[in-house]
Amino acid sequence: MKCPACQGQLRRFKIGSVNLDACEGGCGGIWFDYDELVKVDCEHPDPNQTVATPQYDPAVSVDDYAVRACPHCAEETLDKKLFSLGSGVILDRCLECRGVWLDRGELEKIRESLHPRPFKPRPVPRKPRLLIPITFAVIEQVRILHLGPRSGTLQLKRPPDKNKIAKSARLG
Ligand SMILES: [Zn+2]
Ligand SMILES: [Zn+2]
Repeated sequence: MKCPACQGQLRRFKIGSVNLDACEGGCGGIWFDYDELVKVDCEHPDPNQTVATPQYDPAVSVDDYAVRACPHCAEETLDKKLFSLGSGVILDRCLECRGVWLDRGELEKIRESLHPRPFKPRPVPRKPRLLIPITFAVIEQVRILHLGPRSGTLQLKRPPDKNKIAKSARLG
């Protein structure tokens, strides 16, 4: 069979137990006969499980907008259809044999849209705690450097007692 994208030769390519035709060594696209895409997906229900992909030649480029011929049917051209908005994949499908052509990387995009990876919140970096004792110690060091050691103890004024204020307000 001829590759519908780059006209190379399709070769047998296996994903799990499913026998497919892929443009191995060419553009790296894969042809799925009717229901083969579903079979491959069913065999790999875990979104983190990678699916085998054909080797490709990076020098081979394909035109996504070109009219492509069905590799299976003699005179059918492939119909383009958006797989889903989320995937952004435009499928090339044959309305006659119901086969599907996926360009390189499209299988992964489809699988990602079908089985989104569970949302993992990024770990929020913990704010470093303000090390108050160290900060005061540093301030004290700086003070001693500039003013010399403290001569007396600092007399702190006691804040006014809230209860007393409330009482006097009521009496007054
Ligand atoms: Zn190809
Ligand atoms: Zn066909």
